[in-house]
Amino acid sequence: MSDQEFTRALGYANAAFDLLKRSGIPPYPQFYELLYTYATGVNPSLNNRINAIFRSGTVPSSQLAETLYNEFLKSDVNDRMSSMSERMHARIEAVHEAIDSAMTTANAYSGSLQSASGDLQRDLSSNDMQALATRLLAETRRMQDTNRQLETKLEASREDIAALQRDLDDMRRESMLDPLTKIANRKSFDEGLADAIKDATRTGDALSLILVDIDHFKTFNDTYGHQTGDQVLRLVAMTLKSNIKGKDLAARYGGEEFVAVLPSTDLDGAVIVAENVRKAIQAKELLKRSTNEKLGRITASFGVAEFTPRDNAASLIERADQCLYAAKHAGRNKVVSETDLIEIDEAPSNGASAA
Ligand code: GH3
Ligand code: MG
Ligand code: MG
Repeated sequence: MSDQEFTRALGYANAAFDLLKRSGIPPYPQFYELLYTYATGVNPSLNNRINAIFRSGTVPSSQLAETLYNEFLKSDVNDRMSSMSERMHARIEAVHEAIDSAMTTANAYSGSLQSASGDLQRDLSSNDMQALATRLLAETRRMQDTNRQLETKLEASREDIAALQRDLDDMRRESMLDPLTKIANRKSFDEGLADAIKDATRTGDALSLILVDIDHFKTFNDTYGHQTGDQVLRLVAMTLKSNIKGKDLAARYGGEEFVAVLPSTDLDGAVIVAENVRKAIQAKELLKRSTNEKLGRITASFGVAEFTPRDNAASLIERADQCLYAAKHAGRNKVVSETDLIEIDEAPSNGASAA
């Protein structure tokens, strides 16, 4: 962690403590997390809600803090995890018990067989033989019953474990998705890009990256509200996703920024994809569903970079980000690639005007 990062984190921590103290909310870990998140501003919907509460003059109670925590931060992943582990625990316990009881019965059975074998060494009357056979039959039945019970319990646990497996798979899948837009989240992007870089390095195939940032989105949110803003994020995510194919990966990079990883695609190819997405976003006329109010159109800016053997994930993203910055600078609603960047850089020395 750099000094700068440390100072920033300390600033958020102090701000969170300050807010807890001022509002009289107990500094329990979850409430601290709530106000720390507020201080960082990474969750605009949460901040809007808290700002509205502060503005309304309502004194925030623990109850309210709890409601906000449950709504914005509490991940039901934890709940599902603990319910799963409880189920798993109960299942293992039941199987243990069944095995224990089967073992006890099996030991008793083995004891009975041994004593029967001892009895058979002696001369037995036919009555004794009869009694012995009856006893052994009863013991065998008991053994069979216990085995059947064990089988039933094992069968039930097999089904339960299969269900647990499905739940775990669902959770794993969900943990890779952005909850708002349902496309890949930052974590899966990081993993996907690392894999794509490995593949490109191994095969020598091209690999390109597109960064997308919605233009003037803050103004859009301020004008039409966050909920409508969220709808727009979903729309942009779907537009990006529907314009890529195969092994390509579309992800939400953060806030109103998206990213596409395009294996086997060179810079020119990636610029074409970015142009298609840009046009598709621009072409959509936004309608507020609840009121049919026309919200005009939105645009986005794009930065496109191609992987080189000298790159790592960070340097590739950094170059795409520079291109994105140049696209914003050049008036937004534009696609800028690395070659455009070089032209922009070189323009003044050629006597041509930049951008
Ligand atoms: P620029 O054209 O320079 O990108 O301007 P901008 O307003 O889009 O950029 P800025 O970084 O100033 O603001 C980004 C805004 O994105 C701030 C925030 O309101 C909005 N935003 C980020 N995440 C979310 C979200 O999850 N939901 C909604 N509705 N808005 C979000
Ligand atoms: Mg941005
Ligand atoms: Mg933006």
